[in-house]
Amino acid sequence: DENMMLQFQITLYGDDERLLMARDITRLHRLEQIRRDFVANVSHELRTPLTVLTGYLETYSDMADMLPPRLGRGIEQMQGQTQRMQHLVEDLLLLSRLENDQGGSDHVHLDPASLLSAVQRDAQALSNGRQTIEVSIEDSHGLWGSEKEIHSALSNLAFNAVRYAGDDAHIQLRWRSCQGGACLEVEDDGEGIDPRHIPRLTERFYRVDKGRSTATGGTGLGLAIVKHVLLRHEARLDISSQLGAGATFRCVFPTKRLVDEAANDAHVNQ
Ligand code: ADP
Repeated sequence: DENMMLQFQITLYGDDERLLMARDITRLHRLEQIRRDFVANVSHELRTPLTVLTGYLETYSDMADMLPPRLGRGIEQMQGQTQRMQHLVEDLLLLSRLENDQGGSDHVHLDPASLLSAVQRDAQALSNGRQTIEVSIEDSHGLWGSEKEIHSALSNLAFNAVRYAGDDAHIQLRWRSCQGGACLEVEDDGEGIDPRHIPRLTERFYRVDKGRSTATGGTGLGLAIVKHVLLRHEARLDISSQLGAGATFRCVFPTKRLVDEAANDAHVNQ
């Protein structure tokens, strides 16, 4: 059966004994596919009604001065909530796409400096002067990857820093050499995260403080998106943090993903 999926595991016993185990994961794999398709379809179907709602609400909010104040406030609330739902649907669709196709077709030579300054601009707009956000370029390589995906991963990390680090925090966006390659790093000196939570942060909808995250406008999918983008780039996410001592999110790209800027025509290191 060409649809059958087997998982093999070899275990070493002492010096010269091996145990080979084969597990039939066909059913598991199929269930996983059904779950993915379901999420993708539901999110897709929710798009149209949300667009219609947003359209009407916009019209009503334009007429706000003709409406009784209580109604006006209600419309404002509805606008906020539909916008939240739209972000959620867009993030779910993005995650489905990241899970469902292999990726790689849009990989190009990226300039980390311009990526980071674009993210810095957007983060500054969100921060609205409450925090300082700096970019530093400490490695001369370029990066081989998808502009859209890496931009979305970095925005998620930078927006999280703005949302959770607290007022007056310093946020650093860095491209620097790391063991085994180079990394895009987002560091803040804000409130930090209890290390107990770190292993679960990239799970969908996992939040340290649910009430607060909802108030800050997050969808709970940000770090899951970052993790999937990095998986598609053979990269990994390292998180280090202490309560009260800031947080560092490091996207570590292996050497084969780096582009030598010294060479005339960009080539990927092998
Ligand atoms: P959310 O939409 O809730 O932001 P994420 O997956 O992006 O979802 O983040 C998961 C949780 O990780 C957040 O709810 C928050 O509690 C925590 N977190 C993420 N980044 C930071 C940070 N820079 N400082 C403190 N906590 C953070």
